[in-house]
Amino acid sequence: MPRAHSKRQFAKARQFMPGGVNSPVRAFGSVGGDPIFMARGRGAYLEDIDSNQYIDYVGSWGPMILGHANPHVVTPLKDAVEKSSSFGAPTVAEVDMAELVLSRMPSMQQIRLVNSGTEAVMAALRVARGFTKRNKILKFAGCYHGHSDALLVKAGSGALTHGAPDSLGVPAAFTQHTLIAPYNDLAATERLVRKHRKDLAAIIVEPIAGNMGVVLPRPGFLRGLKKLCRVNGALLIFDEVMTGFRVHSSGAQGLYGVKPDLTTLGKIIGGGLPVGAFGGPKKIMQCLSPVGGVYQAGTLSGNPLAMAAGLATLKKLGTKSFYVKLNQKTSRLALGLTEAARKAGIPVQIPHVCGMLSLFFSDQVVTGLGDVMKTRKNLYKAFFHEMLARGIYLPPSPFEAWFVSIVHGENEIAKTVRAAKDSFQNIKDQF
Ligand SMILES: *Cc1c(COP(=O)(O)O)cnc(C)c1O
Repeated sequence: MPRAHSKRQFAKARQFMPGGVNSPVRAFGSVGGDPIFMARGRGAYLEDIDSNQYIDYVGSWGPMILGHANPHVVTPLKDAVEKSSSFGAPTVAEVDMAELVLSRMPSMQQIRLVNSGTEAVMAALRVARGFTKRNKILKFAGCYHGHSDALLVKAGSGALTHGAPDSLGVPAAFTQHTLIAPYNDLAATERLVRKHRKDLAAIIVEPIAGNMGVVLPRPGFLRGLKKLCRVNGALLIFDEVMTGFRVHSSGAQGLYGVKPDLTTLGKIIGGGLPVGAFGGPKKIMQCLSPVGGVYQAGTLSGNPLAMAAGLATLKKLGTKSFYVKLNQKTSRLALGLTEAARKAGIPVQIPHVCGMLSLFFSDQVVTGLGDVMKTRKNLYKAFFHEMLARGIYLPPSPFEAWFVSIVHGENEIAKTVRAAKDSFQNIKDQF
């Protein structure tokens, strides 16, 4: 697979942009090699600027649940752009979007639309703090909630601690109110909550972790968090930017039957255009300006193109059979990969739910960041390049989820499993 054009463009990009990219993971830093410049996508396939084809398991990191350039999305998007790409005034599409999202996720009575997941989380935390009149928030190691200052924290040396900044440019003062606990560890979380109970505004969690690779919540974990919040007067925020409308028609909260106080959304609800949203019960959302005292605004919020693509996408996801099908596809892929690895004698863990999975090279069940860090990252790197050479585009990082779309058919999944068989065989002496 010659990729001369990608190579040339990347060299040029590096001159003009830090690292040659606009988001770090695109730079292939953790797998090595040059990133691939994409020219177009259709269905489950991508085509790069050297005319190579790939089966896509990145799906733009989540939004492309209907596959690329789906006509059901493209047509309304074209119609919308003809009518102007932005007004900065209310539009019917925003109301339709709000109504649709609320009808699918009954934990929310009102939402606000923003432009990214980062923004949604940042504003939801501000609302939680404004509503509770408290300062502290608790997050879990390995969960990602966008790149706002207070959330770029790493666990300090103690297991239970205030987060230290995990990025240059973040003053320690900005993370002093962020507590950090191990994912899936209810006892540790409880100890931390007890200690800070009077000033804890919210616990924020990815109800299914997807940003350290896919890590499923242990039975009772989410329900336990809900109870901790209720008992201590804090709000529970589910960050469903990734899982919302992917794992179930009402997100992870629908799948596990746990109702958060606030929910953040993004990715799928924009159908591939930049969108975020957050919402909850009216009594909490009424804190937001212009009604309440928590300020939040956005020039392009509720953008008509994003609404058109998002609405078109959500409408196609309405039926229960959609998720039954997507779940079957994901399970079939996970099973095929497991079998292929077993035949090569390579121990893997493949946590999966409807529409997303991860492949960890490990013989131990992965329950949190500690386990993820112990997996064999180098094997993923080798596997990634073996798969790429066979026309399978996987996330260029062992810590990211693979995304399956509704247009990944029998054929694509079978091809992927065959490629995996050969790839596992080729890397097994490195094991
Ligand atoms: C992607 C993601 C975000 C950040 O969304 P952006 O649109 O990239 O800012 C936040 N939280 C979760 C769970 C995500 O997966």
